[in-house]
Amino acid sequence: DPRIDGIKTKIRVVPDFPKKGIMFQDITTLLLDPKAFKDTIDLFVERYRHMNISVVAEARGFIFGTPIALAIGAKFVPLRKPKKLPGEIIFEEYELEYGSDRLEMHVEAVDSGDRALVVDDLIATGGTLCAAMNLLRRVGADVVECACVIELPELNGRERLEGKPLYVLVEYR
Ligand code: IMP
Repeated sequence: DPRIDGIKTKIRVVPDFPKKGIMFQDITTLLLDPKAFKDTIDLFVERYRHMNISVVAEARGFIFGTPIALAIGAKFVPLRKPKKLPGEIIFEEYELEYGSDRLEMHVEAVDSGDRALVVDDLIATGGTLCAAMNLLRRVGADVVECACVIELPELNGRERLEGKPLYVLVEYR
């Protein structure tokens, strides 16, 4: 798709952030370009609009998941860091590329039988998506697919998704 190249050029790569040796993929520069940002959302919407997705979930940030949910007519469920959600929650601990963290989800937000799409800006080790999928599965949702703007394939994050399909727009090696 010719739109992918435009998206790729708008992602800034910042060496040695937040630590030496890490090539940080900065999607904030993509958000500054309305055409590239819209193309990103459109590509996901075109893929998911006819897949009967009933819930879109995203961990920590909500930049990509919320417009996708609105466009495909699904509910949006934020998976948040501790102490952000006031209702009854379940949580999963997970490892990050740098550090560890915990994701929480409102139990009543997801119904058994919901068809879920898990969105994130980037997959590195896959720990975040794995934790997100576990939260959804624990309340009986069917995780249909994971979707990311960027994949770092050398970190083998896909292997942690236990065969779940992963759709990505851009690979960075
Ligand atoms: P994983 O859990 O190791 O797959 O790491 C993915 C999570 O860490 C995502 O939620 C990303 O937002 C964040 N992350 C890891 N590396 C980067 C990066 O280079 N740029 C932006 N976010 C990153």
